[in-house]
Amino acid sequence: MATNSAAGIKWNLSDLFASYEDPQIDATLKDCHTRAETFAARFHVAMEHPETLTTELLVTALNELAQIYEAIGRVGSYSGLLYASDTTSPEYQNLEQTVEQRSTEIHNLLLFFEIQWLKTDDATAKRLIDDPALASYRHYLQSLRRYRPHTLSEPEEKIVNEKDNTGSNAFGRLFSEITSSLSFTLEKDSPPAELNLSQILSLLHEPDRGLRQRAMETLYQGLSQHSQVLTFIYDTLIQDHLTMDRLRDYPNPMAPRHLSNEINGAAVKTMMEVSEANYDLAHNYFRLKARLLGLPRLALFDQYAPVGKEVRPFPYAQAREVILDAFDAFDPKLREIAGEFFAKNWIDAEIRKGKRGGAFCSSPSPLLHPYILCNYDDNLRDVMTVAHELGHGLHGSLSRKQNYFNYYTPLTTAETASVFGEMLVFDYLLGQQTDPQVQIALLAGKIEDIFATVFRQNVLTRFEELAFSARKEKRLTPEAIGKLWLDANGKYYGDAIDMPDGYKWGWSYIPHFIHSRFYCYSYVFGQLLVLALYRMYKDEGKSFVPKYLALLEAGGSDTPENLLKSLGVEIQNREFWQKGFDEIKNLLAGLSKLI
Ligand SMILES: [Zn+2]
Repeated sequence: MATNSAAGIKWNLSDLFASYEDPQIDATLKDCHTRAETFAARFHVAMEHPETLTTELLVTALNELAQIYEAIGRVGSYSGLLYASDTTSPEYQNLEQTVEQRSTEIHNLLLFFEIQWLKTDDATAKRLIDDPALASYRHYLQSLRRYRPHTLSEPEEKIVNEKDNTGSNAFGRLFSEITSSLSFTLEKDSPPAELNLSQILSLLHEPDRGLRQRAMETLYQGLSQHSQVLTFIYDTLIQDHLTMDRLRDYPNPMAPRHLSNEINGAAVKTMMEVSEANYDLAHNYFRLKARLLGLPRLALFDQYAPVGKEVRPFPYAQAREVILDAFDAFDPKLREIAGEFFAKNWIDAEIRKGKRGGAFCSSPSPLLHPYILCNYDDNLRDVMTVAHELGHGLHGSLSRKQNYFNYYTPLTTAETASVFGEMLVFDYLLGQQTDPQVQIALLAGKIEDIFATVFRQNVLTRFEELAFSARKEKRLTPEAIGKLWLDANGKYYGDAIDMPDGYKWGWSYIPHFIHSRFYCYSYVFGQLLVLALYRMYKDEGKSFVPKYLALLEAGGSDTPENLLKSLGVEIQNREFWQKGFDEIKNLLAGLSKLI
């Protein structure tokens, strides 16, 4: 039996609490509850009369609020991490639930603060925001106000929240229940295999062409059987979204997402147009890949077929060395910080029964260092996962100089450090390899990864736009949605890939359309931003390093647009977004040379 190289690599959570029975957990929650009550008693009335509110009082309130949030965050992080480390433990399950319930109670006591701040008239808010004494809370106070024109009255918001549980949220749950219980029978296998959604999707990466084809046909055949109900769910949720847009006075369906991303819709529009103008890069790659596979033309089920030779196995200790060396080449400070994660056991890497799947980095608060969970399985993909999560870890460490409210970044920039970390390690690894077949595998893997986060997510967003504007006209049928899906994808695949008829169901299992509408463009944003930054690093060399580190240190202390300005990035400009595609061109040229 193969032993896993990460066996025994577990995190040490004692910086948070001693154990799930630590009396400090209960004591912290009790203390937070009392402090929240005192907070409400002290500031509720003051916040209701902001015209007499002094900056001194507001500073005191915000300091106290940050401290309460940080304390709850410590408990919440601990229970969440324990639970992730063993989801089957009844003690951990119980702790997780108790903490969730008690922190909700505390949050509810504090909720009035943000609500009252939103109600404050513009003149008063401006007087307070402009006061130098509140400088470190300026961005927080300012950015909260962006929801002011779109917030309903308190009783209305309460009704929306409660009714959502049996309304839009219920449709979301129905979607999850259907897609998670999907079962696909792959015929011609003896015995016939029963596969779930993620198992059948992973077969699209298999070397056996016949198997890939059967997997894809089985997938769409299976999805088509649920087309009526999946269409009904999506149609209803779009209508619900459109209704809320009207009630909350949003100018278009994407506007709420732009607001939560703290991004200007015009910049997103430019980014998406530039992406489309570069679809021919994808067509060129698909033709190149057909040549690599010895095919006249790529079928849709060949898209993720492996090429070249994979480096395998890749032991954990070697991954650590490669990542630290790659980070060091960028700046020794990165090695120093990332090194601490390994040395002080802030990473849980081993594969264990009951442990949560996938990978994440948890950055609880500026007072605490981040923790990383992954399931390391001795392959290159997992090396990249560790590099990705350590990128988050660097971000979470460097931005600890910010206060609680300036610590977290919006979605659009939350993936900058992680994807940049992957680029560093990818480039370093590529330089180390001498076997052209291994280089081909590495480059093709990277290019396909980038396509999946740039082009495909752009297609998904265009599809959503199409579906929303079609729904404004009339109710959507399975045929209508399928046609919109094929239209949006047709531009991307061009004449380089044939789409089978069954692909019209390709939209129907994607959770983002259901749970987080218009989320997908954030992936495009994050990936292109990093490619452009990486291009700048290669062009500017070492003088880029301090600017990049300053960006990470700034955390969420300003809007992404303002923070990026200090690196000379103008997200409104077409030229900036094109930089990312120029970097993709370089990768493609490198691959062409090898073939
Ligand atoms: Zn990430």
